[in-house]
Amino acid sequence: MKLLRYAIGDDSYTGVLTGDEIMRLGVEDLAELMGAELAFVDTGIIDKLADARVLPPLQPGKILAIGRNYAEHARELGNEAPAEPLIFAVMPSAVISDGAVIEWEANMTAQVDWEGELAVVIGKTARKVSEAEALEVVFGYTIANDVSARDLQTRDKQWTRAKGLDTFCPLGPVIVTADEIPDPQQLRIVTTVDGVEKQNGSTADMIFDVRFLIAHLSRAFTLQPGDVILTGTPAGVGKAQDPPQFLGEGSVVSVAIEGIGKLTNRCKVI
Ligand code: MG
Repeated sequence: MKLLRYAIGDDSYTGVLTGDEIMRLGVEDLAELMGAELAFVDTGIIDKLADARVLPPLQPGKILAIGRNYAEHARELGNEAPAEPLIFAVMPSAVISDGAVIEWEANMTAQVDWEGELAVVIGKTARKVSEAEALEVVFGYTIANDVSARDLQTRDKQWTRAKGLDTFCPLGPVIVTADEIPDPQQLRIVTTVDGVEKQNGSTADMIFDVRFLIAHLSRAFTLQPGDVILTGTPAGVGKAQDPPQFLGEGSVVSVAIEGIGKLTNRCKVI
C-alpha cells in the first residue's frame, strides 16, 4: 500500500494512493494505522490526486540519520568507510513535503548539496531488537533528501545546523508499507538535478544494512512509532563533482527509489 497525507483546500486527510486516485482514510495521522485494520478506517470517499496537495507523509518523532553508509560515497569526499554506523540526528522541523520549496539564506550557506536516501519508518516500539527481528518493527519506507550545507558542515565540525536547517529534510511523497518491500537492500536510488542524473546507486551497497541499523540504533535509543531512519546516500553528491556543484536558485532536485516513487523539490535562495 502507498499511504500519504494530503490537503484539499484547508482540510487535510490521509489516504491510500492507487494510480491517480486516493482512497480517503478516517484517521488524522498515518501513525494511527500502525497495527490497525484498514477496513475500519476506509471512509468510502475517493479523491483525485490531481486535486490534492501532498503533505509530508508523517511528522517524525526522531530522525536518526547515518553518515557515510556507502563506501563509494565515503571515498568521494575523502573519508574512510566507518567501522560502525556514524549516527547523527536531523531536526524534525526540517521536514517538508514533495513539491515544497527547499530554501536558505544566501548569507547562511553557499554550498547546498543533495543526498538521496532510503528512509525507514518505524511502526513499533523497539528496544534492543535483534537483527533477525529488526524488519518486524518497520512500518514502511519512504524517500528522503538529506539536504546538506557543506560549508556549515565543515565549519561547525558537527552536522546539526548543516543538515537541520528548516526545509532541509524533504520526505515522501508516500510511505510504502513494509509488506510491499520485503527486501530493502535491492532498491535502485537515483537523484537528478535539473533533469541531469547525479546519483545512481543501489541500497545493496549499504555498508550497514537496514536490519543492522535498526538493531544497532535500538541498543542506544528506544525506537518509537513514527521515528524515521535516514540510511545514508550513494556516491554522486555535488561536493564530489569536478568542479563541485551545488544547488542554487531555481534548482529542481528529484530523488527516485524503485517501488516507492519520486520526491521532487525546487530550491529558493532567500
Ligand atoms: Mg545523508
